[in-house]
Amino acid sequence: MTSVKPQTLDLSGRDRVPVPDDLARWIEAPKGAWIGGEPFFPKSENKFATINPATGEELTTFAEADKGAVDLAISTARRAFDDGSWSGQTFEHRAGVLKKLAELILAHRGPLAILETLDTGKPIRESYEGDILRSATNFEFFASQNEAAVERVFESQGNRHVARREPLGVVALVTPWNLPLYLATWKIAPALLMGNSIVLKPSELTPLTASYFAELTSEAGLPPGVFNVVHGFGENSAGEFLVSHAGINAVSFTGETSTGKAIMRSASPNLTRVSFELGGKGALVVFADADWERAADEAVRAGFRNQGEICLACPRVYVEAPIYESFKKRYLAGVEALRMGDPLDPQTSLGSLISVEHRSKVQSYAELAARDGKVLTGNLTLHAAKDGTGFFSPLVVEDLPASSRVNREEIFGPVVSLNRFEKEEDVIAQVNDTPYGLSSSIWTKNHSRAERVATKLRIGLVWINCWFVRDLRVPFGGQKKSGIGREGGSHSLDFFSEWKSVCFFGEGQN
Ligand code: NAD
Repeated sequence: MTSVKPQTLDLSGRDRVPVPDDLARWIEAPKGAWIGGEPFFPKSENKFATINPATGEELTTFAEADKGAVDLAISTARRAFDDGSWSGQTFEHRAGVLKKLAELILAHRGPLAILETLDTGKPIRESYEGDILRSATNFEFFASQNEAAVERVFESQGNRHVARREPLGVVALVTPWNLPLYLATWKIAPALLMGNSIVLKPSELTPLTASYFAELTSEAGLPPGVFNVVHGFGENSAGEFLVSHAGINAVSFTGETSTGKAIMRSASPNLTRVSFELGGKGALVVFADADWERAADEAVRAGFRNQGEICLACPRVYVEAPIYESFKKRYLAGVEALRMGDPLDPQTSLGSLISVEHRSKVQSYAELAARDGKVLTGNLTLHAAKDGTGFFSPLVVEDLPASSRVNREEIFGPVVSLNRFEKEEDVIAQVNDTPYGLSSSIWTKNHSRAERVATKLRIGLVWINCWFVRDLRVPFGGQKKSGIGREGGSHSLDFFSEWKSVCFFGEGQN
């Protein structure tokens, strides 16, 4: 493990954050899987590069896990599960290790934030104050979940029934590139707390922080083999080998809806339990009675935070007619004030998209938006300018027909459509008019209207007069094509455990 020590970063804004020499050396070293508490290099010798999308430079190479490596990761995880060194520990012991993991993440917050920014292109401030902090919080939060240890006792007819949670066994965690360590730890923490062993398959586009984190797990006191990582792609690679394996007891997946369908097909022959957090197409709705100035400021964040690469983003903004023009003016001023630039510069508010390929996808939606509607900001010619990088300047378009693909499909980039509405029932219908049902944000001072609209939206998460305000106990997940199941608090604990009921005949009081 690197001895890098910048646990805190100077984000005062004067300089670009430097990549320390020893971290640069750690990055350059070729990486393999992490199995049984140590690096493992698969036989196949297939390699893939991870690229810094802000420069187009190769950061390092990763060994792609072949079938043999995935088998080994799963059998190692199973042995570690069966020997009881983790699964047989008390809840308090496991919670203590989770707390230690949180401390270690905070102790390595600087290097982890730099790695996340290099791998994703997101602004360093976002990595440092958002992703990495939240990764530590995920462990702290689950370590404090007393629900995990709860036993339920039912007494009747003189008998006593005791229900308690048991770990599932070996669980597969498959995660995306937009919030790499943040979303991986959101699954790792509850899975570990419940006593499971893990095989993690991070996105092939952002494998760095999972590798760095793996090296911290032994220091935290996790027995070897409890936490394993395999690297590679999805179809016909590490991802598919993992989720189709009969030795896996559950798959927790976050990613695209189409990938969720493929994983369901792979998991179904073994009837493997699945939890899916999939795509979204959120909306931000502003009624004329709202604090529309605050709504306009928040809409900028909801559209462009993390370059719009957030499942909870609001790439559709609906504004009631009487305030439309005033809202638009303030909103566009906010968008134009965003600073796109070097992700390692603490002043940068918009970094690079994840890849050149993703930029091309976003570009094609931008062209569609320009054809179907009226472009208000953004410079389409600029988008193609920086060859070999993922930079894409924010685009806002108005007057799009409701049926436009730009209004219905997930773009996952900085493209926002601004829409005017007249009636409450119309805007509800429009917000619901996508295959997705993850989240939306409603702005009004009228509480009954807020309740009414929230009830009628077919989504999993509604924010009233805010966006991205989270309580980690709250059920998190989507309706329709946005997912299956819920994460968060006891919902994650339920997913990563089985309830077992034991009946003690004649031992009840009642
Ligand atoms: P993706 O589906 O392309 O990839 C996610 C992961 O799945 C990667 O690790 C990938 O290698 C793996 N994978 C791909 N095909 C597979 C297969 N056939 N079998 C097994 N594994 C496979 O998603 P992405 O592009 O990395 O992430 C962006 C998507 O994630 C967006 O749709 C976004 O909305 C969604 N997302 C959802 C949430 C949520 O909480 N609902 C959060 C973040 C991102």
